[in-house]
Amino acid sequence: MNKAFKFRIYPNESQKTLIHMTLGHNRFLWNKMLEDKQKQYELDKTMLFNRPAQYKDTYPFLKVIDSLSLANTQLNLEKAFKQFFNHKQDFPKFHSKKQDYGYTTNLVNNNIVLLKGYIKLPKLGEVKIKQHRAIPSDMSLKNVTVSKSSTGKYYVSILYEYQKEIKRQEIKTSIGLDFSMNHFFVDDQGFKLDYPTDIQTDYNKLSILQRSLSRRIQSSNNYHKKVLEIALLHERIRHKRDDFLHKLSNVIAKRYDLVSVEGLNLKDMSQTSPYYAKQISRFGWTRFISFLKYKLETQGKTLMVMDEWYPSSKRCSCCGDIKTDLKLSERVYHCSNCELHLDRDHNAAININKEGFRKYKLAFQL
Ligand SMILES: [Zn+2]
Repeated sequence: MNKAFKFRIYPNESQKTLIHMTLGHNRFLWNKMLEDKQKQYELDKTMLFNRPAQYKDTYPFLKVIDSLSLANTQLNLEKAFKQFFNHKQDFPKFHSKKQDYGYTTNLVNNNIVLLKGYIKLPKLGEVKIKQHRAIPSDMSLKNVTVSKSSTGKYYVSILYEYQKEIKRQEIKTSIGLDFSMNHFFVDDQGFKLDYPTDIQTDYNKLSILQRSLSRRIQSSNNYHKKVLEIALLHERIRHKRDDFLHKLSNVIAKRYDLVSVEGLNLKDMSQTSPYYAKQISRFGWTRFISFLKYKLETQGKTLMVMDEWYPSSKRCSCCGDIKTDLKLSERVYHCSNCELHLDRDHNAAININKEGFRKYKLAFQL
């Protein structure tokens, strides 16, 4: 199993310069390789297999930086293409200077060592680190991602691998969660969890700031001040949201043996119901699911994700009848077959819980 630890680092000036250069060169390579892949795709709808080495003669500056980081950029680009070919993501995008990206380097022959107060990294040497938690001794280091946030902070995310024997838990408790328009989720008991209001408030502040930014003259002093203010707010929202998602997934993974959730296709949703898709990405539903999955699986518990086409909303949770003409505006499910009258999301959550249990039994042949 894998586990990542993220720590803040404090590089000196020359280390900062090298980090910027490595990030910049990797961004350059990503864009060059993507450009060539894009040409090939336009030609015959396939993925071109290009490698960093092919670019080093034309762009010799690529030879100067950590070569493992270039190899990882290649892998990440290929991953993004595979996601695209599996219809899970849009066509990979070009990287811009404005976004936060990290570069990843791997452990080879002790080139990465975590010391007291320092981390030794390829090319960078020893960088000051604030290690706020200890790493269990049975974990072995795999790779490190170095990143710089748009607020000017530097981080390393260190990925560790460890062996753990996990015994599958017998299912005694289960829950179905439906992502809802007006709530973070509704569960199969009808419990509704609201969106965290302080994050919502921050988002409102953010849109005010973004509007005021659009009125300022680009590259003026005030403009840059606003840009930083926006980046800081983004950072604060991210921290609050992750905190919320971690606490919530901890509670659920502790209490339930089987958690079932609806399967969402964000790509389709952003076209059919953009408001929905925006709420989902703002509040990190996908991130929540990945936290839940990890926390359940490390305890021998299970997460079941519905197939995208599973009609959780359209099905009557009482008699199984399917209402094909259910509109998004109908907030109460009324079944003409068995007279069930139930909150739409509550009905969906019951279906998700039942279907999850069915899928679980099928998967483990119980
Ligand atoms: Zn019914």
